[in-house]
Amino acid sequence: MSYDDTDQVIFPAGAATQTSAAEAAQGEWDAVVVGGGMAGCIIAEQLGQAGYKVVILEAGPGKDMDLAEYESYLSRFYGAVVKDNQSPYPFNPNARMPRSTDTMPVNPGTPRDDFYLVQEGKYCTDTTFTRVLGGTSMHWEGKALRMLPEDFDLRTKYGQGLNWPLSYDDLEPYYRKAEAELGVAAEVEDQAYLGMHFPKGLATR
Ligand SMILES: Cc1cc2nc3c(=O)[nH]c(=O)nc-3n(C[C@H](O)[C@H](O)[C@H](O)COP(=O)(O)OP(=O)(O)OC[C@H]3O[C@@H](n4cnc5c(N)ncnc54)[C@H](O)[C@@H]3O)c2cc1C
Repeated sequence: MSYDDTDQVIFPAGAATQTSAAEAAQGEWDAVVVGGGMAGCIIAEQLGQAGYKVVILEAGPGKDMDLAEYESYLSRFYGAVVKDNQSPYPFNPNARMPRSTDTMPVNPGTPRDDFYLVQEGKYCTDTTFTRVLGGTSMHWEGKALRMLPEDFDLRTKYGQGLNWPLSYDDLEPYYRKAEAELGVAAEVEDQAYLGMHFPKGLATR
């Protein structure tokens, strides 16, 4: 398979620079972020932009921002006999992650503490998490949904649940920032019938 220059835009050289463990241990850092998932990476990026020297400690493999590593994920997925969200990733005993089939409810009197994801109650979901650089965003489904304005007032409007202590307008600038980071694209007019509004003139970052 060959690639032209446009591929480098998706995986630019040096997008993820890995600091060796020895270098990380000897370095002096203003901030140490544990976990290079979506939240950790955004925090690290913001601190870096503010001039702080930041190191991210990531439990999983950390070279996957280059094309070769990404392709190895694809190859592993295509070659897996049983395919689920975790099939692309190598087994890492130091950073285990649950498979969808590992999820099971904890029944009263039969505690289950032999795995990372243990759920109580009858509503057990097969949700998982991914331990590689990028975290669970490496297998998310590309949905970036805002809550509707009325969702914040469920008790007042529909007599259900509780009202939130925040309003849609309080969160709107933060939705915007998150969407800018994620690269979300949509027609603003298409959302209007749901009551969602996108104030003009606000900075996106
Ligand atoms: C199948 C699936 C589909 C999804 N689809 C969507 C979607 O379409 N839209 C949406 O909005 N959300 C979706 N989500 C949810 C979304 O992906 C997660 O909420 C989000 O990625 C969580 O980000 P995070 O940074 O909080 O945590 P994570 O992404 O879980 O990041 C945690 C990071 O910390 C690392 N780590 C953990 N423990 C340690 C440790 N001890 N030391 C060092 N590093 C550690 C992990 O390796 C990982 O990189 C989906 C989730 C799943 C499971």
